[in-house]
Amino acid sequence: MEYDVLIIGGGPAGLSAALQLGRSLRSVLVCDNGEPRNGPAAEAHGYLTRDGIPPEELRRLGREEVSKYGGEFRNSQVTDVSRANDGFTSTLDSGESVTSRKVVLATGVGDDLPDTDGFEELWGSGVYHCPYCHGYEVRDEPLGVIVTNQHMVDYAKLIYNLSDDLVVFTDGQDVFDEATQSLFIERGVRIEDEPISALNGSGDDGLESVSLADGRNVARHALFYPPPMEQHSELPEQLGLEVNQAGLIDATRSQHGIGFTSVEGVFIAGDASSGSPPSIPSAVADGYAVGATVNMELSKEDFEGGGNNGQAP
Ligand SMILES: Cc1cc2nc3c(=O)[nH]c(=O)nc-3n(C[C@H](O)[C@H](O)[C@H](O)COP(=O)(O)OP(=O)(O)OC[C@H]3O[C@@H](n4cnc5c(N)ncnc54)[C@H](O)[C@@H]3O)c2cc1C
Repeated sequence: MEYDVLIIGGGPAGLSAALQLGRSLRSVLVCDNGEPRNGPAAEAHGYLTRDGIPPEELRRLGREEVSKYGGEFRNSQVTDVSRANDGFTSTLDSGESVTSRKVVLATGVGDDLPDTDGFEELWGSGVYHCPYCHGYEVRDEPLGVIVTNQHMVDYAKLIYNLSDDLVVFTDGQDVFDEATQSLFIERGVRIEDEPISALNGSGDDGLESVSLADGRNVARHALFYPPPMEQHSELPEQLGLEVNQAGLIDATRSQHGIGFTSVEGVFIAGDASSGSPPSIPSAVADGYAVGATVNMELSKEDFEGGGNNGQAP
């Protein structure tokens, strides 16, 4: 096998796994096709010592650290992974084929955005999903939150924590019972029941207003909405891994670690996994632990085979 481990996805999770494996003397290849989840955002927040760092700078620093331990990189998409001998053969979109003893999927998730006009353009620069990532920067500003079902009512309370000037948009859905509606109204929160027809503003200048189906425009500085998540890559399904109702791959634990999947030798880390709450700090922590788990599996195999680090005794 050319590599001990192929890591598919070079975001915080994949790079963190690579760092751990490189420091464990494992040969690692990280493949990344350059579509990070937080690509639309100018800054990443909430990661201790790196608060406010541009997402691409965090990745650059991560690659630099992984390189110190011999980690290799390809800016390529992995299009196919199949079992071969005691490991895997994977195909890259460049046509290259690589073999590895183990595979870590750190492929992330995508956000299933509504097709409302302006939504995609403003995603990450005026329309946000995560109050912890972007809430502080828009605190006390006129904010909006989209609440289209009962499960999102508590999410609206998180946004209320950021600003007294809050409008809840139900986008035409019948969401609130009378008691809940009264609670919001008593706290000065306006509820707009009209369907949303467009979001106005630009990726450079941010959100300006929300247009409603009855023709009104509601001026807002930022809008929050947590879209459903979906796997970013087809590889998990191609490998026979089941996607759960939340759009994630279930990761299991053993006494030796975490990130195991139902396919032996294939591990999952970061946002794509049910084991990792979707954020950079969690992805880094999960990648660290999954990297250590993979190294433990390799170490056991090597020891039982009589050598260390893949070497013959
Ligand atoms: C707009 C926005 C802003 C955010 N801001 C913050 C923030 O401020 N703070 C915070 O903590 N979190 C933030 N997040 C969440 C954060 O982006 C994720 O939690 C984090 O990136 C997860 O890391 P990951 O490594 O699991 O996935 P990702 O960072 O998404 O990395 C996965 C990588 O895998 C690659 N990939 C996928 N399939 C393949 C394939 N087949 N072959 C090769 N490569 C592949 C993708 O191109 C991608 O680069 C934000 C999310 C969004 C949507």
